[in-house]
Amino acid sequence: MTTPDAPTAGTAPEHLSTVTARLDHEIFDLVALLKAGEALHDELDVKRLMRLLIAMIHERLRVDEIAVMLHDSDTGFVVVEVVDGLPEELLGSAFPAKDGILWRMILSGERISVVDINGEPRFPNIFREHGLRALQGQTWLPLVMPDQVVGLVSVGAPRPGETITASRWKFIEQLAGQAAVAINTARLYQSIAIARKKLDRSLHQLSMLFDVTRALSAVTDLTRMLKMILERAIDAVDAEKGSLMLVDELTDDLVVLVVYGLPDKEVERKINEGEIECKRLARGEGVAGTVLMSGKAIRVDNTDDDGKFADRSQSRHVHSILCVPLKVDDEVIGVINITNKVKGGVFQDEDEEILGALSDQAAVAITRAKLFEAAITDGLTGLYIRRFVMHKLHEEVKRAQRYGNQLSIVMCDIDFFKRVNDNWGHPAGDAVLMDVAAILKSSVRTDVDYAGRYGGEEFLIIMPQTGGSGGVLASDRLRASIEALTVDIGDDKCLTVTMSFGVAELSLDTGDTVEALIKRADVALYQSKENGRNRVTLHDGLTGDASVADVPVADVPVADVPASEEHGSADFV
Ligand code: GH3
Ligand code: MG
Ligand code: MG
Repeated sequence: MTTPDAPTAGTAPEHLSTVTARLDHEIFDLVALLKAGEALHDELDVKRLMRLLIAMIHERLRVDEIAVMLHDSDTGFVVVEVVDGLPEELLGSAFPAKDGILWRMILSGERISVVDINGEPRFPNIFREHGLRALQGQTWLPLVMPDQVVGLVSVGAPRPGETITASRWKFIEQLAGQAAVAINTARLYQSIAIARKKLDRSLHQLSMLFDVTRALSAVTDLTRMLKMILERAIDAVDAEKGSLMLVDELTDDLVVLVVYGLPDKEVERKINEGEIECKRLARGEGVAGTVLMSGKAIRVDNTDDDGKFADRSQSRHVHSILCVPLKVDDEVIGVINITNKVKGGVFQDEDEEILGALSDQAAVAITRAKLFEAAITDGLTGLYIRRFVMHKLHEEVKRAQRYGNQLSIVMCDIDFFKRVNDNWGHPAGDAVLMDVAAILKSSVRTDVDYAGRYGGEEFLIIMPQTGGSGGVLASDRLRASIEALTVDIGDDKCLTVTMSFGVAELSLDTGDTVEALIKRADVALYQSKENGRNRVTLHDGLTGDASVADVPVADVPVADVPASEEHGSADFV
């Protein structure tokens, strides 16, 4: 019913238009909500999701202070995102979610006014104790799902002169419901992604370790093993360079045995082949010395500012260091130093973890290799013992026969060595043996040739992939080096010695044997002795008593048996 003065004619269309407008608005809101929901659900990155939610609320409510807190059962509510303009320090502030009135209000999912009529906080303790006043929140919107509290949105006051209509709040409350589900999904997704990444990393580590263990078990040569360990370690953490140091048992110092990634490749080669020695570090000295002492890994970033560097000049090209101990049981036998990430940045926990696992394997392998090396090395000369060099000879002969490769062996023996002992004493003889052996060791090809002590002052060298003439050439170089050697025997006295050589080549087209090969080298050596010593003889036949070619020493004049009776072969220099 209408009153007469009420303009009935105008009321009906006005009423209809209001309804239409309201319906339009609701449809618009529903569509907007649907779109917003889709956008929220499309986002799996929690951080970006927060920002999207804040932007949506900001657009709808025209409020300038908005912050999102996420809930987890350990810490309670933590501020994770704030709208531009709120202090960044708020991020991370948290308050515990306790059973209580506030918690029950949050659980209800309805928006909570957190200030009273005078604008004072309704939960002053929480605001005061947890520094939340800066949020300038007036209303908290719970982000909840059935049985689960995901978080809270803190919404400030509307701008002066503006109010937030009930329909806007309704829209935002529905949006909050959608956001709760989307955030929960994104958090789940992220934790699964993290778990997966961890699993991938563990798998990668495991396969790398498996690989390293297998590779290391096949290597018995210590230097080669150390190189391999260092290269794998550098590779495993994407580093630029590194070094491996072992404890010198005599001095208890750390000695660099292998380096990798030095800018000067020639220096790197010389260090790795033992031609130059790097600075040794005492227990407790520098980063590595500290690791040796503590048995614990050290990570140093921006090393320019760190006092642990023993030598400041070392730190010039170093931005980040990871140094791990090589430990067997509780004993530190060395350290691995790894320097600079290839792609910049600093080493992370996971780098330390993977390097730790690798060094555990490496330390065991190194100890095994050292024991093996000690067992196959002659104590006086550092050359291989006879048993080992013979074992290698059998292996190499088989390999040469299988692949049709050349192979030569050299038997050599110091001339008139007995007189050295007789005239100068056994220790002088030992000194000669050591110096001669050092020449043999440094002159043969690393990783290819084998030099062993065959008898007292008799040596056997295996030269794979080398024919007789190559064997002669190499032998003659050795002969000349030994002739030029002066051995310090103490008391300001020096000796010179000479050595005779017998070379034999493996025959590939007959049933040649290790025994026959040795015999031929022996015969050739005997011939060198017969023909005046200090010379090289190649056996050119296949049987022990076949013809023997005495190779005249081309460039180097062959010294006749030197030495007077008085001094034996050992010239007094
Ligand atoms: P040749 O030129 O014919 O080879 O004469 P030589 O005196 O070298 O030959 P011989 O085989 O008669 O002497 C080898 C000597 O080497 C005998 C032994 O006392 C000595 N000898 C063997 N092993 C060692 C060692 O470990 N230390 C020392 N000082 N002498 C050793
Ligand atoms: Mg001799
Ligand atoms: Mg001898």
